[in-house]
Amino acid sequence: MTQQQFEMLLPLAETWAAEQECIILRTGVPLTESQIADARQVGVTHPDRVRLLQVTEIPVPVHPALAAAAAQTRLISPGTIGLTLRYGIFIRADCWGQRRLVIHELVHTSQYERLDGISAFLRQYLLECITPPGYPNGPMEREAITTAARLCACYFHAATSCAAANVTTFAGLSGTILNQRVARAGLTRRK
Ligand SMILES: [Zn+2]
Repeated sequence: MTQQQFEMLLPLAETWAAEQECIILRTGVPLTESQIADARQVGVTHPDRVRLLQVTEIPVPVHPALAAAAAQTRLISPGTIGLTLRYGIFIRADCWGQRRLVIHELVHTSQYERLDGISAFLRQYLLECITPPGYPNGPMEREAITTAARLCACYFHAATSCAAANVTTFAGLSGTILNQRVARAGLTRRK
């Protein structure tokens, strides 16, 4: 993608993001008490403004150029399970209630706050997505991945995207359960 194409797409992305945020703020649910505590921990200044909206699929922009860019950068794909538009967070229904995913998205909310709005966030975040190493290896995406992993005290840090983070959560969980069983078995044997 050229700089010119990027500058052409950015205002379209901003408009789309603002529209989606409005929809989520109107129809989503506020954070629970424990989610508010998580939001504070990752640096969200206004957790009370956040709304989560359950969707069967993360919506894709209607504008053809924007939809193409979303697919090209792999930002929104059939594997996407969460998407944050400042205070509005889409969560795919089959991942609803996953703490690690919500924390990941809340880190993005804190980044929107830090950069003071949708426009500045999108400029930096999307630039990281189209500049090598690209999504999901840009600094902002990495911050969300590593913060969520740290807060969930997960030993599996290999997540490379929101979608992969989901898979890894389950892999990490079964790995942890397995390790506990092994530890317990070891303990029994020693007795
Ligand atoms: Zn992310």
